[in-house]
Amino acid sequence: MQISKLVLGDYENNSYIVRKENSANCLIIDTGLDSNPLIQYIKEKKLNPAALVLTHGHVDHIAGVEILRKNFENIKIYIHKCDAPMLGEPVKNFSTILGLKVQTSPADVLLANEGSTDFQGFVFEVIHTPGHTPGGICLYNKDDNVLFTGDTLFAGSVGRTDFPGYETHKCMQQLIENIKKKLLVLPDDIIVNPGHGPSSTIKNEKMHNPYLK
Ligand SMILES: [Zn+2]
Ligand SMILES: [Zn+2]
Repeated sequence: MQISKLVLGDYENNSYIVRKENSANCLIIDTGLDSNPLIQYIKEKKLNPAALVLTHGHVDHIAGVEILRKNFENIKIYIHKCDAPMLGEPVKNFSTILGLKVQTSPADVLLANEGSTDFQGFVFEVIHTPGHTPGGICLYNKDDNVLFTGDTLFAGSVGRTDFPGYETHKCMQQLIENIKKKLLVLPDDIIVNPGHGPSSTIKNEKMHNPYLK
């Protein structure tokens, strides 16, 4: 599995392009506020984006949904069912806070279950880690030693929970509990690829992340 990372838009969102060796088919994990460089990259490399998986429904991750659909009409879009309403509602995806009104068409597939999931030929284990949002997910691939964590877990930090309408303290407790119970139990050498910032490993986060002591 080959993984490329693009950093998109003002919020510096990591968008990951995953493909198998010698294949044009790719899986995209998250978009960014400005997803034009992602479209350009896909076209330059002559890739065929089969699926877009959204780690959660915040505006900075979903803002590229429509432009991807427009350019690649066969792309299948996945989001956890608990974050699905955020796609169509600017207040819920927090785009209104940025003075924007981001609304996308519904996803093609709503994820409801954890465990092994086939995203148009790309198989990942879906791990549901609510806290930053109700439908936040991480994607784990054991064979390739890699975990995509969205805004659940960052290198040295965890996702925010101080959003309007959130029970901040309760959500933070839930987030940390999920990280400890579901992510830190993975092998130490797994590469952690977050939704913002640099990559890390499970071992590094266990040892040095101040939120997880
Ligand atoms: Zn977020
Ligand atoms: Zn984010």
